[in-house]
Amino acid sequence: MEIIGRKYLDVLIPEEAAFMQQALHAFVDNEIMPVRQKIDYDDEHKLVDKIRQGLTGLGIQRAMFPDKYGGMGITSMVLSFIAFEEIARGDVAIAIATGCTPWCFAPAILASNEAVLDRFAPQFCGDELQTGCFALTEPASGCDIENPEMHGRTIKTIAKLDGDEWVINGNKCLASNSGVSQAYCVVCTTDPNLGEEGIALMYVPYPVEGMSFGKFEDKAGMRADRNCDIFLDNVRVPKEYRAAGPGKDAELFTFNCIMGRGGAAGFSIGAAQGAFEKVLEYTTDRIVAGKPIREHSVCACMLADMVIGIETARAYYMNLAYMIDEARIVDTIGSKGLDPQLANFFLSRASLAKVYADDVAVMVTNKAMELMGSYGYLHEYDVEKYWRDSKECQLYEGGAQLGRLDIIRNY
Ligand SMILES: Cc1cc2nc3c(=O)[nH]c(=O)nc-3n(C[C@H](O)[C@H](O)[C@H](O)COP(=O)(O)OP(=O)(O)OC[C@H]3O[C@@H](n4cnc5c(N)ncnc54)[C@H](O)[C@@H]3O)c2cc1C
Repeated sequence: MEIIGRKYLDVLIPEEAAFMQQALHAFVDNEIMPVRQKIDYDDEHKLVDKIRQGLTGLGIQRAMFPDKYGGMGITSMVLSFIAFEEIARGDVAIAIATGCTPWCFAPAILASNEAVLDRFAPQFCGDELQTGCFALTEPASGCDIENPEMHGRTIKTIAKLDGDEWVINGNKCLASNSGVSQAYCVVCTTDPNLGEEGIALMYVPYPVEGMSFGKFEDKAGMRADRNCDIFLDNVRVPKEYRAAGPGKDAELFTFNCIMGRGGAAGFSIGAAQGAFEKVLEYTTDRIVAGKPIREHSVCACMLADMVIGIETARAYYMNLAYMIDEARIVDTIGSKGLDPQLANFFLSRASLAKVYADDVAVMVTNKAMELMGSYGYLHEYDVEKYWRDSKECQLYEGGAQLGRLDIIRNY
């Protein structure tokens, strides 16, 4: 263990995580920061794909896959959360688009589903950029599908077994990487009346007959991630492409929500950190009333509040990551399942990490813009992009309200 040299990362991280974090820090400085302002105008995603190809070269895409497929077998949340915070410091949506690939495959990896891994892992452990999508949200409601009190009964995407194949019908929406992925993990139910027993995580390769997409959503921010409707019309996949089976898929789904919310806290703090660095520089250089903005006590206090938020949110989500690693869920969920009390505890704490980090990111980007005056509102001063991107962090994965409910009902 070492205390990392970067002065603003006041958190203990293991040596191998520090190594990866520093490599990603340098990557963001060299490959994202110089072109960051062009990302929102990159309609064809050529620039975004080039950056993501660079991250693939660093091993991010194959990191979670088992060694025998050419992966690195990295399932540590400490490593993963801090890595994606670093990427998000450059661009939150690139972090999300990159992070959704391991998120898509986590259920199959944790369940050791060989049929799914044999089909996809060689392709995703190669040097070429590939993309995965974890599709849970449906038009009727995203939160209801994640809400444990709904027990999977609101899922409308249905998977029916027909001989050796699943036949899937339904409509997903808004999922990151939709319309551009080579692999989809689609949250289905075999029968909504079965509750958790019905929840089925189905792997769908693309292209496949019966799968089509709507137009890309036109969002306020997060433009390096793409989201659209996914239509599944009698899509057929082999029987073995269900992640694990009745009951087990529900546990894997819950764990993906835990991992997703915990990781999302890192995305938010990456954005907050990026915006903070910009405003610190600006308020150091710009003189008002005879001295740098940051030396006026009213402004210094605003900067201090940003630091308090960033450091406490980071410390909390990293503590969560340590707790998940310590509980060894990733090693045991496939064989022993997920203890319900542990699941409730971690869903509550992952929601806490996310909701707090999201609020910090929105506060920091908002206050940073205030301290920069009207220049903060200009695209070329960088903060307005962090400001637009951060708002979405409060809305996805349960949003601010379901997140709070999940904190308190298991506290
Ligand atoms: C950039 C981006 C990336 C995304 N990535 C993914 C992805 O990878 N995969 C995916 O499946 N989806 C993804 N989404 C979709 C996102 O996760 C959902 O939009 C989100 O979960 C909220 O669902 P909803 O929009 O349907 O809101 P609703 O579920 O309709 O919720 C609306 C409001 O009601 C509140 N609410 C919900 N439930 C309750 C409750 N029980 N009590 C009180 N209040 C409640 C919510 O907090 C919110 O304020 C993404 C969206 C965007 C824009």
